[in-house]
Amino acid sequence: MKYIVVTGGVLSGIGKGIIASSTAMILKSMGLRVTSIKIDPYLNIDAGTMSPFEHGEVFVLDDGGEADLDLGNYERFLDVNLGKDNNITTGKIYNSVIEKERKGQYLGKTVQVVPHISGEIQNWIERVSHVSVDGIDESPDVCVIELGGTVGDIESMPFTEALRQFQFRVGPENFCLMHVSLVPVLGVVGEQKTKPSQQSVRELRALGLSPDFCLCRSSQPLTHETKKKISLFCHVPEDNVIGVHDVSNIYRVPILLHSQNLPNLILKRLSLTPKVDMTKSV
Ligand code: ADP
Repeated sequence: MKYIVVTGGVLSGIGKGIIASSTAMILKSMGLRVTSIKIDPYLNIDAGTMSPFEHGEVFVLDDGGEADLDLGNYERFLDVNLGKDNNITTGKIYNSVIEKERKGQYLGKTVQVVPHISGEIQNWIERVSHVSVDGIDESPDVCVIELGGTVGDIESMPFTEALRQFQFRVGPENFCLMHVSLVPVLGVVGEQKTKPSQQSVRELRALGLSPDFCLCRSSQPLTHETKKKISLFCHVPEDNVIGVHDVSNIYRVPILLHSQNLPNLILKRLSLTPKVDMTKSV
């Protein structure tokens, strides 16, 4: 099983969901079997009790699970049926740990965020990633995990710590990290600014996670100089800096990623072999 984690920096609503679903969709088009997990670092058990004015509409899954609209994106992009366990929230994790504590399953130990909450998150990811979502009775090849919120938020700390530990549990050859950040354009000359990306990558690295790919959201395509600068300051090879500018239709994002060779770079990074000739797909 290969894991691709998508994190986001600078601000929320940056496009992590679309980038994660597009990546998953490209991998599926190569004949790989893909599942996905969305992590929402809020304390609600699920989105069922949250106001649609605050959170958008609730997306109801086949098993009755109530999740946010990102799960709908994954289902549409991937043509799969996800279950309620494909959506992890802080509430679900704490609930499960507290239930175990009440049953005495920690054998008198002091129950703590590390290792118990971080361990529960990892166990959950590992268990759910092996569940088939496409009707074929076999474990998927790849699991795309989107960490909601922004790196560095208090809410997402247990999850970033769990993912830091998880890269060693599954091995670095099975774990790849894509970090989505923002490249704003300032001034009349339209200079693309890389500092927010540099700072969000620094924050991520301080938490023990180093991105393999930097995906930069911007209003216009990234210039060559911007890519070079991000590569230099974010410790990512230049080819692995991918520009994701605003497009008129989100279904163009997979084409954008494909045109910058992201699929081949992911295959190489994770030693994956496509089952379909990629040159004709997407
Ligand atoms: P996040 O998961 O980071 O909260 P989403 O993936 O939900 O962000 O995207 C937030 C909004 O931005 C959505 O309405 C989405 O359609 C839009 N969006 C994302 N990427 C692009 C893009 N490249 N071009 C235009 N709109 C985009």
